[in-house]
Amino acid sequence: YAAKLGNSGAIIYSPDIDKSSQQSLSLLSELRAALEQQAFRLYVQPKVGLDHGKVVAVEALVRWIHPERGFIFPDQFIPFAEQTGFIRQLTHWVMNEAARVCQVWKEQGIQLKISVNISTRDLLDQDLPGKFAQILQTNHVEAASFCLEITESAIMDDPVRAFQTLDRLHAMGLELSIDDFGTGYSSLAYLKRLPVHELKIDKSFVLKMEEDIDDTKIVKSTIDLGHNMGLRVVAEGVENLAVMNLLKEMGCDQAQGYYISKPMPSADLPAWLGKWQEQQTQAPS
Ligand code: C2E
Ligand code: MG
Ligand code: MG
Ligand code: MG
Repeated sequence: YAAKLGNSGAIIYSPDIDKSSQQSLSLLSELRAALEQQAFRLYVQPKVGLDHGKVVAVEALVRWIHPERGFIFPDQFIPFAEQTGFIRQLTHWVMNEAARVCQVWKEQGIQLKISVNISTRDLLDQDLPGKFAQILQTNHVEAASFCLEITESAIMDDPVRAFQTLDRLHAMGLELSIDDFGTGYSSLAYLKRLPVHELKIDKSFVLKMEEDIDDTKIVKSTIDLGHNMGLRVVAEGVENLAVMNLLKEMGCDQAQGYYISKPMPSADLPAWLGKWQEQQTQAPS
């Protein structure tokens, strides 16, 4: 695949090989330039504990502010970054920024776990655990403050090497989470083998929970499965109070979604947290 960013900011896959290889070269150089010019931004989205309503963690989600095309969502460049291997540099930037932000918040008395998304290509990088150890040390943050979100397909590509890397990250004290659970393959085999702490129910099930009884059943069964395996269960894609209450009734541990907050620039989090806490004390549930 070769790709370029269209005027709308959407990636266009071109069947024309000559043209498309040129286009992908230019996209790759744009990504590289973006790193140098500090055009990536770390956005964060809160995760709330359903039993008490407090924010317990955030997920780091990258955005690209393109000089001409403006705001670009990760779905429009992460797949390309994965294909070209650029993702390794991007993951390094995200992890470093997450660690920096974690340290800044700690100084402000804000103790939150931060989740970072990791791709296949990262898991195949034997140096990844060492690089992360270095980042944690430089920023004076503990491994236990971090959770790495991985998808089943990321593990599928080369399970032996992926398991090795994940075991090493786990041994360092980082938590692991299976993202988009239920959409990949062999979920159960991986659950058994991997040193995971958390399971995230894919938003495709959560978004339709209210209208589709099958989705409700899948969500409930996944919560029970996770708990039976001793895991924390998080629902993503919580867009209204009804779903939030339903998840709480079902015993789900944490919720993440637009109902609580859309992803925001990391610098906005402390003020947002203040407002959220105020709201919680005014209307205790
Ligand atoms: P993900 O890790 O499954 O992240 C959750 C996505 O769901 C985010 O999209 C988030 O904004 C969105 N979301 C959260 N709550 C709701 C909701 O209530 N309703 C709806 N409709 N959507 C919700 P986003 O930020 O566009 O990221 C998309 C995907 O891009 C992520 O899915 C992740 O796979 C990837 N990604 C984002 N940042 C990074 C990164 O730094 N590294 C890597 N490797 N992948 C990343
Ligand atoms: Mg994720
Ligand atoms: Mg997800
Ligand atoms: Mg996803």
